[in-house]
Amino acid sequence: ATPTALLVGTGRGAQLGILIKGPEILESTRKVDTIVLDKTGTVTSGKMTLVDVIVEQGTVREELLRIAGALEDASEHPIAQAIAKAATQELGGLPEVESFANIEGKGVQGIVEGRAALVGRESLLSDWSQHLSVEVGRAKAAAEADGKTVVAVGWDGAARGVLVVADTVKPTSAEAIAQMKALGLTPVLLTGDNSAVAQRIAAEVGIDEVIAEVLPQEKVAVVTRLQSEGKVVAMVGDGVNDAPALAQADLGLAMGTGTDVAIEASDITLVRGDLRSAVDAIRLSRRTLGTIK
Ligand code: ADP
Ligand code: MG
Repeated sequence: ATPTALLVGTGRGAQLGILIKGPEILESTRKVDTIVLDKTGTVTSGKMTLVDVIVEQGTVREELLRIAGALEDASEHPIAQAIAKAATQELGGLPEVESFANIEGKGVQGIVEGRAALVGRESLLSDWSQHLSVEVGRAKAAAEADGKTVVAVGWDGAARGVLVVADTVKPTSAEAIAQMKALGLTPVLLTGDNSAVAQRIAAEVGIDEVIAEVLPQEKVAVVTRLQSEGKVVAMVGDGVNDAPALAQADLGLAMGTGTDVAIEASDITLVRGDLRSAVDAIRLSRRTLGTIK
């Protein structure tokens, strides 16, 4: 394609809410055959709400909410924000945290009211020999089978309960995925969340391939593996933990509603945060390059 044609293409993209970093990017867009989609904030709205609190025997609901809420108030994760918001509303305020650390892809840890607390994946708690009871574990599995995300809470050496949050699929995601398939692309759902939740969301939007329970630093390896199988990979994401994978992909697309780190690592920004714009970007490049040949 001529430089002029590519420039016209990027200009048209801007009108559609597709910001393309350089005209040459349209060339790589055209060859894409696989589109890896981050779940939270990309396929789903990422706006979670707390829907249930399940405590271990001997733990008071209010205490669980207060400690988990205080810790999560220091985290930017959508799960954390849902928990902190619900706890603030129910309790009227939250205590200060005495120390705080984010454990990428797993959860948070810190000290609240003198207690060393953890909030996150069940594996984060078991790393510290904190285990959910059989009953709470069962309730957790049931909520997950129902497509919800469940995080565990523990402090002072014991698991204290779980918090159930629910995310909703963006209203435009299923349509976007149907359009991707119509263009001959294979959508793949990639997430750090557990497989039950991932499968449920995938089924809801029509994605057949799911790669779940992937740690943030492993997301990039998934992209590399697909490339080594000969796939030309586009990746759509929004989070800090998606950035290395967005940079590694043959084409990185960031949700405009996402983090600056993801946007910087990407070739294209989808201003509206709507997955249909990813389809528009691929159509635009095919059209731009196809007509000039
Ligand atoms: P995704 O790939 O869906 O955006 P992440 O990689 O950010 O998910 O997180 C993976 C999992 O780690 C979450 O589903 C959750 O179980 C746990 N997790 C991460 N951060 C937090 C947090 N701040 N609070 C509770 N759980 C967390
Ligand atoms: Mg995300």
